[in-house]
Amino acid sequence: MRTAAAIIGAGPAGASCAYSLSLKGIENVLIDKRKIIGFPVQCAELVSRNINQFVNLAEIPSAVNQKVSFMDIDTGKNIYRSEGKGYILNREVFDGYIVKSAVKAGTNLVKQTNILKINADENKITGLRIADNKPIEINYDYLIIAAGPKNSFDLRGNFKQRLKNKSYIFATQVRADILKEEGLDSTICYFRSYIPYGYGWVFPKGRFANVGIGIEKPRVDMPLSSSLNNFLNEIRNKGLIGSNIYGKTSGLVPVSGLNDLYSGNIALCGDAAGLTHPITGAGIVSAVISGNLLGGYVAESLKTSKNLLEEYKEEIESIFKTPLSTASKKRSEFYPRMTDADNIDKLIKRLWPSFEEYYE
Ligand SMILES: Cc1cc2nc3c(=O)[nH]c(=O)nc-3n(C[C@H](O)[C@H](O)[C@H](O)COP(=O)(O)OP(=O)(O)OC[C@H]3O[C@@H](n4cnc5c(N)ncnc54)[C@H](O)[C@@H]3O)c2cc1C
Repeated sequence: MRTAAAIIGAGPAGASCAYSLSLKGIENVLIDKRKIIGFPVQCAELVSRNINQFVNLAEIPSAVNQKVSFMDIDTGKNIYRSEGKGYILNREVFDGYIVKSAVKAGTNLVKQTNILKINADENKITGLRIADNKPIEINYDYLIIAAGPKNSFDLRGNFKQRLKNKSYIFATQVRADILKEEGLDSTICYFRSYIPYGYGWVFPKGRFANVGIGIEKPRVDMPLSSSLNNFLNEIRNKGLIGSNIYGKTSGLVPVSGLNDLYSGNIALCGDAAGLTHPITGAGIVSAVISGNLLGGYVAESLKTSKNLLEEYKEEIESIFKTPLSTASKKRSEFYPRMTDADNIDKLIKRLWPSFEEYYE
């Protein structure tokens, strides 16, 4: 197969890139190893309302599970409430919608296909179709790596050791019943010494909630399950959630900040580019923004026969570099000192971006 642009990964980043390319009339192939796009969901599903600048949620009411108005930060000693207008998504619907829009606009979607190798010298990717184990080979003019937090390719196409020199939040999440009959109008983030270098969350989904914890590795050597169990016990004892647990997912959030964004005709976007926020772990909106932008620059590069990926890099850096490096510095400065409830309470306002003190 031959294409102008091949995209590895049909999450929000890759799908937004494919959609943007198709809207500009550029032939593209969007490849994902998943059978069902967006499933299984490995996400707490909170997005701020500014998502509507990029994806009009009014067009997909079923992608929004509920709205939230506040964010509560619980330090164990105090609960701080701030405005936190956002949506709790149904991620599989949201991701599926962007992919469907791309396909409708002309994208060739290749599902259940695992890309195993990039041959950058020959502008070629190879992989296996999962259903029948048949090899697949795609030649491209431009390659977009949107393979998420577990991306295992570097910009020369080499398979890399994911964890080398990089930090990740290792996260695990369950779904539980919310016991308050009227549900919750806020997301709640918990800072506890038994969730080191991370936090616990309760993000409401109607009668249910996504309940999880994330801790940074390799910095902390603590089993995720013991941290999660402590957390579930604490919030159960408070009467917030019931004892039933529905399903469990885990995932990674890169917290080392921006990666190199391109080399030659290969570029990264979304989590693969290191665009998740190093403190909050939020990455959906930045995946959509970066995918959109990259699609635009690749389309223009193909139309003008001039590689414009340096401009992509400059634009991404102008939007994300300062906020991401500020957050990275705050991670290293404050988390090591947040060892007990007193210290957590003292430092939280300088660590977490919903406080004014964060920006001082
Ligand atoms: C537990 C958890 C909770 C989170 N909660 C939030 C939240 O509440 N709000 C928020 O904004 N962000 C959250 N995030 C982060 C958010 O999920 C990511 O930032 C977002 O999914 C990034 O989108 P992406 O398209 O870059 O990557 P992904 O969504 O990970 O998509 C990558 C795609 O690439 C495919 N792929 C990977 N490798 C290959 C390959 N070799 N061949 C073929 N296909 C491949 C995968 O199957 C996947 O579909 C959370 C993350 C985790 C782990």
